[in-house]
Amino acid sequence: MDSSKTIGFVPTMGALHQGHLDLMRRSREENDLTVVSVFVNPLQFGPREDFSRYPRNLAGDASLAESVGVDIVFAPTADTMTRESTTQVVVGGVTELWEGERRPGHFAGVATIVAKLFNIVRPARAYFGWKDLQQCLVIRRMVRDLNILVDLKFIETTREPDGLAMSSRNAYLSPELRQKAPALFRNLEMLREVCENRPNEFENALELAQNALVAEGFRSDYLEWVSLETLAITRRADEPSALIAACYLGDTRLIDNIRLRNDS
Ligand code: AMP
Repeated sequence: MDSSKTIGFVPTMGALHQGHLDLMRRSREENDLTVVSVFVNPLQFGPREDFSRYPRNLAGDASLAESVGVDIVFAPTADTMTRESTTQVVVGGVTELWEGERRPGHFAGVATIVAKLFNIVRPARAYFGWKDLQQCLVIRRMVRDLNILVDLKFIETTREPDGLAMSSRNAYLSPELRQKAPALFRNLEMLREVCENRPNEFENALELAQNALVAEGFRSDYLEWVSLETLAITRRADEPSALIAACYLGDTRLIDNIRLRNDS
């Protein structure tokens, strides 16, 4: 391969949707070549999580990637990526809260595989979605701490027309639960308005949002206003921050977020 060509890289777990394709389109615009990985990373799933039933459709993914002009789809086997490997990339700090607290080992699994993929693909730029906000911060920390030569690009969340953040896991929702799912983003939007205009009313609004979600049938895992630097709880609208949420609808765990001041 001509080494003067820039490579844009989009790591995914497959079951591709428009959100993934938007990352690929951005990479196409900004690089000579675009590489997409499709790898359902066993290291990032907990023992009681959905690794075995995670949707897989490599042929469909390859044709979707091709339809937006992706040059290479890299789909290694689990064995290729994990065999005989005893090294882990453990990022500190931002991994300790929220997803990291609830999913022990998850971010070490993500960081280890993303570091390996960076070394295999050697991209100039790599594209990640803000949909997984904490993952963005973890990868940014890893790249800084390990002096990895890659330019990270974080891309806005692509949503369904009713506001639900696109996710491969939305396929798990029954039609009835799928109808309820947009309430998560609606409540985040309601809280955003409060944070931006009446931050001293936030606690009341948070309680309202939590109750509204329970009434819709959600089981809330967390719903908080956090610093975009540290992910610690904040009540300050004058610093980059985000509303972050995780909740269950039936057995399906949904996550979503809204950033309040864009620092990307
Ligand atoms: P996944 O296949 O779920 O691991 O996602 C692969 C990449 O696509 C990650 O960087 C995700 O943050 C990103 N992504 C997933 N869903 C969306 C979405 N709705 N909008 C934008 N990016 C997304």
